[in-house]
Amino acid sequence: MAPTPKKKHSHSRSRQRRGKLKLDLPTLTTCKNCGKKKFPHKACPHCGSKN
Ligand SMILES: [Zn+2]
Repeated sequence: MAPTPKKKHSHSRSRQRRGKLKLDLPTLTTCKNCGKKKFPHKACPHCGSKN
């Protein structure tokens, strides 16, 4: 027998499980070369700079 939850989650409960995880924006830094937003530790998608 697999472990069974004792109580059924309400609809809002089940929605909260992953609903809040993605709320915060992905971390972005500003490219020092062109000044646009880029992911840290990735090449800049705008100018290709690695900084
Ligand atoms: Zn750039």
